[in-house]
Amino acid sequence: MAQPQDITPRGRLTPDQPLGDFTWLRVGGPADWLFQPADEDDLAEFLAALDPQVPVFAMGVGSNLIVRDGGIEGVVIRLGRGFNAIDAGETVTAGAAALDSRVAIAAAAAGRDLTFLRTIPGTIGGAVAMNAGCYGTYTADHLVSVRLVTRAGEIRTVAAGELNLRYRASDIPEGAVVTQATFAPPAGDPDELAARMAAQLAHRDETQPSTRERTAGSTFRNPAGFSSTGRADDTHEMKAWKLIDDAGMRGATLGGAVMNPKHANFLTNTGSASAADLEALGEEVRKRVYDSSGITLEWEIARVGRTRR
Ligand SMILES: Cc1cc2nc3c(=O)[nH]c(=O)nc-3n(C[C@H](O)[C@H](O)[C@H](O)COP(=O)(O)OP(=O)(O)OC[C@H]3O[C@@H](n4cnc5c(N)ncnc54)[C@H](O)[C@@H]3O)c2cc1C
Repeated sequence: MAQPQDITPRGRLTPDQPLGDFTWLRVGGPADWLFQPADEDDLAEFLAALDPQVPVFAMGVGSNLIVRDGGIEGVVIRLGRGFNAIDAGETVTAGAAALDSRVAIAAAAAGRDLTFLRTIPGTIGGAVAMNAGCYGTYTADHLVSVRLVTRAGEIRTVAAGELNLRYRASDIPEGAVVTQATFAPPAGDPDELAARMAAQLAHRDETQPSTRERTAGSTFRNPAGFSSTGRADDTHEMKAWKLIDDAGMRGATLGGAVMNPKHANFLTNTGSASAADLEALGEEVRKRVYDSSGITLEWEIARVGRTRR
């Protein structure tokens, strides 16, 4: 079976590609290989040819990632232009590289309510993988199906129910890459939806660090969080930021990493942090929160790659 260097896809295949600039936290070493496929067929043919022993990692725009300082083994797949079409009507179908905000805006213009995506800075692929959500609505609430390319290079349509979407998690098959998602959102008046999105943006700016800061959003899951299933136990009462605050860790620093003074659950790179600084500060927070409350915080940020090469 072929190694990456033996394959000549139509898209871009780059060895030793530094990944820091592709993530919101701006840290991390290189991918052994970065593949930016031209389109879905290009991706499928590449994966079918690639030695199954080579690890594959799909990334979006890195708004929920710490790439460790030693980089990522194998092939990192980042979808681009061939995967960002949006078709908004009674249902909304978007390529996995489409930005959540653009999908929310296109849906609203077509009178469909995906407003919860407006302030989430990731892609549709990342939204499916993380079951991204905001203001009480989650991707799972309106997702019908996804198209994906399996690690073996097979293109499949998978019903949302098969993905086991739950609070900030899903069961996308190992090494598979989501290429497209279809939603069935409720109808809404375009002007009202636009006004709601403007209010959400204003609320975010009031309560969260500026989107110019180097963060990856919420660092830890809110304990006892569940998807909005309508169940009586669907509660988010225990907030990670409050536990971090109570443990005295708001504003705590390690190297160039800080727990953001404005929102204590936002781990932030002040400019000089390494991935190791960020991860170590996060682990220190987990320890202090456990010592002060007996609660073990779980990482929401995905940490991937090697600590060193
Ligand atoms: C300022 C800020 C605010 C945020 N606010 C919110 C919020 O309100 N709600 C919320 O839910 N999240 C929030 N986040 C976190 C983040 O935006 C979401 O988790 C988002 O869904 C990640 O998308 P991404 O494209 O950046 O994925 P990445 O960070 O690149 O990847 C995240 C995970 O998704 C997987 N993935 C990405 N694309 C694909 C694909 N095509 N196929 C298979 N797997 C894939 C990756 O393997 C990884 O496991 C925030 C982040 C920031 C920086």
